[in-house]
This record gives sequence, C-alpha cells and structure tokens, in this order.
Amino acid sequence: MSYSAEFRCFSGCAGSWPVTQPIYRCPSCGGLLEVVHDLDALRDRSGASWMRVFDDRYRQNRWPYGSGVWGKREWVMPQVPDDMIVSMYEGGTNLFWAERYGRSLGLSDLWVKLCGNSHSGSFKDLGMTVLVSVVRMAIRDGLRVKAIACASTGDTSAALAAYGAAAGLPVVVLLPRGKISTAQLAQPLAHGALVLGLDTDFDGCMAIVQRLAAEGIVYLANSMNPLRLEGQKTVAIEIVQQFDWQVPDWVILPSGNLGNASALYAGFRMMRDLGVTSRFPRLVVAQAENANPLYRAWHAGKRSVEPIQARPTLATAIQIGNPVSAPRAIAALEAMDGLVEQASEEELCEAAARADRTGMYTCPHTAVGLAVLEKLVHRGVIRPEERVVCISTAAGLKFTEFKVRYHERSIDGVSAEQANPPTFLPPDFGRVVDAIDARFS
Ligand SMILES: *Cc1c(COP(=O)(O)O)cnc(C)c1O
Ligand SMILES: [Zn+2]
Repeated sequence: MSYSAEFRCFSGCAGSWPVTQPIYRCPSCGGLLEVVHDLDALRDRSGASWMRVFDDRYRQNRWPYGSGVWGKREWVMPQVPDDMIVSMYEGGTNLFWAERYGRSLGLSDLWVKLCGNSHSGSFKDLGMTVLVSVVRMAIRDGLRVKAIACASTGDTSAALAAYGAAAGLPVVVLLPRGKISTAQLAQPLAHGALVLGLDTDFDGCMAIVQRLAAEGIVYLANSMNPLRLEGQKTVAIEIVQQFDWQVPDWVILPSGNLGNASALYAGFRMMRDLGVTSRFPRLVVAQAENANPLYRAWHAGKRSVEPIQARPTLATAIQIGNPVSAPRAIAALEAMDGLVEQASEEELCEAAARADRTGMYTCPHTAVGLAVLEKLVHRGVIRPEERVVCISTAAGLKFTEFKVRYHERSIDGVSAEQANPPTFLPPDFGRVVDAIDARFS
C-alpha cells in the first residue's frame, strides 16, 4: 500500500518537501513546517480495522512492531524501511491508575501516563526514534552533515545521544551549563556525544544550534523539526488504545517548547480523521510560573506568544522563554477547547510530595501538571467523575537532587510540608524500636 508523508508549511504556503530533506523552516514565510500524511490512502482501512492492526502489534516481539511508535508506523512515517529503523522499543508505557492520589483530590478516574518509563527516561524517545531513523535514511541517500545536533534542557540530548549511538551516528548536544540534572548530563557523556555546556539558558543554546543547522554543519534534532512530533503523537493514540479506544475527558501536559502539546493534538486529530474516535479530550497545557510565556499570552487573550526571559525553575526541562512551537500549541488549544494554567515552585514541590506519598515517583515537570490538576479540581473546572490523564514526561529517578533537596528542606522559598528526612541512629536495638514507636505510635 502506498502510504506517504511529506513536509508542508504549517501556515499553508504552497509547496511540499520530502521528509529526508534537511529543511526546518518554510522557504516562503520562514515559519514552522509540519508533516502531512496522505489520509485518503490511510482510509483504505476503516477505523475499526486500524484499531485491530494496532492491537495485534501492541507490545509484541515481532520487530519493529512491538515499539509503541513503529506499531503505528503507517500513521507515523510510512516510508522508512525496516532496515533503517532505529528503535529501542519505545512507548507501550504504563497508564498508571492514580487511584489513591485521585481519591485524595476527590477524583474517581485519574490516570498518569508514565512516558518516562522508557529507554532514556523521558517521552523524548518517542520522537527521537523517528527522527534518527529518517536521518539514517537521508544519509543513505546522500545527506552530508558532521553530526545530528540539538539544544536541550537535558532529556532531548539524552534521547538523541542514545539513538545516535544505537545507529552509530555522530551527535553534538548543546546544554545550558549548570541547568540540568546530574543524570541528564551523564547520559550523553556515556553515549559518546560531543557535550557542549554553554554559559546561557536553553533559548541561548537553541539560537546557536539553529544557526549550525542553517549553515548545513549539523542536522537539527529539536522539536522545531516536525519529524519528532510524528513519533510523539503516538502517546495520544496509545492512551486511547489503553482505554479500549475510549477518549478521556481531559489530558494535562507539562510544557516548555510546546512541541508535545501539538503532537498530542496531531494524534487525536488523526484518530478522529480516520474514524477511530469521534471527539477530542480537553487539553490543559501546564507551565511553570517561572517560565510561562504561553500562560501570559493566553490569559491576555493573545493568540501569539511574546518571548520572555525564563526564570530558574526546579522544572528545568521546561525552563524555556521562547517556545519554538507556540503557534502549533495555540492551534491545538483552540481545537481541543484547551486551557493554560501554571504552577509555582512551592505548588509543584508539594504536589510532587503528595503524589509520591501515594506510590508515584514524580519528576518536577510531571509535578507541574499535577499541581495544575489540583487547582482545576479545587476550582470545579475538572469534575469528580471525569476521566483525567496527566502525562508524566520523565522518570523521577532522573531528578534525585530535586527529591533529596525537598526532603532535606533545602529548597529556598519552599516550606517542604511533607519532608521525610532520614533518621540516623547508632546500631542499637532499643533506639531502633524507639524510632518506630515515635513514628507509628
Ligand atoms: C521536553 C520536556 C518537556 C516539555 O516538552 P515540550 O515539547 O518542549 O513542551 C516536559 N517535561 C520533560 C521532562 C521534558 O523532557
Ligand atoms: Zn510558509
């Protein structure tokens, strides 16, 4: 079957380009590109038939179909042949029933999609498998660049370094020095990437990598490149699949550069256009108050985002003041009857601690989403019986410093109401019994 996808201008300028072409902006208007699929070709199967295809492949061992991304390859990147696919069995992540945490908020149907339970520990794997596979195909067809490169707040670089290493392709990562976790710094080092720590923030790194790409020195792996979004959109499809093809009422997503918000919409839109679903959930974009350019624009009634200087936040992966995909995210919010809400440092810390007390292990970005959830429930916007999915974007284990500092009560301006510091004792039986009695009397 001749399924196909190509680049087009997001703003609708004429022209289309092959997905293997190293092009990151529309040559006419300079705006964003998007991947457009031949939906008529995909309509050769009914929605019900696609559901069966995807269910048959889900988490199976037949390579590459067990991957949550490549199990949906016709909808993602149909031209990539098997021998070009660079996959590490991404997707297929746990849709965690947050039963106890949800009950504590008065919700009966709360779920957390654990996208961080993945090879490199964040949802970035979903997009990177597609991008690196397409680059491998482009290189086979003659593309010449020194390396694949990205600017990163820590997770994009970890994913790119891993997939690049798996494919044997050179990788350069530009990181804002001192603004990512130790685990995130260690990941690209371990995979042999050239790691450049720059004395700037993410936005400063992004400006440099865009110029490297424009001059043809590197291939750009940031989510400005819509290839990433094609893989990331499978989260939407996978969530619906995990509910036996039912659409939830709400999806809450912590966001920075705003690529993932538009990827989610692309997934929901494709399901609707191909007869798998008939409605959208409402989208909530959750931002850190210290890095909230979309929140400001949205609440001022503006439909374009003014760049700001992002202030430091514990949610380091979303410390972004000039979100590249803002126009895409605004389109997603408009189509999905969306909301934009924000969380302070204190709010995200306490939400993470509350969730952790019910068995989760929440990264600070996921905590921004949970803090926003708590606000919307208290305000009565989200109602008790509604089905809510919070997207957990990364694994809590990548953010050990965040957890330790909270439980040491050493985060400035955060009272750490639920801190649970360790008790250190001599190896004395009686003292141990006393400690147990003191806590559980
Ligand atoms: C990249 C990232 C985000 C933000 O995703 P965008 O597409 O940039 O909005 C959120 N959380 C984590 C953990 C991330 O790594
Ligand atoms: Zn254009």
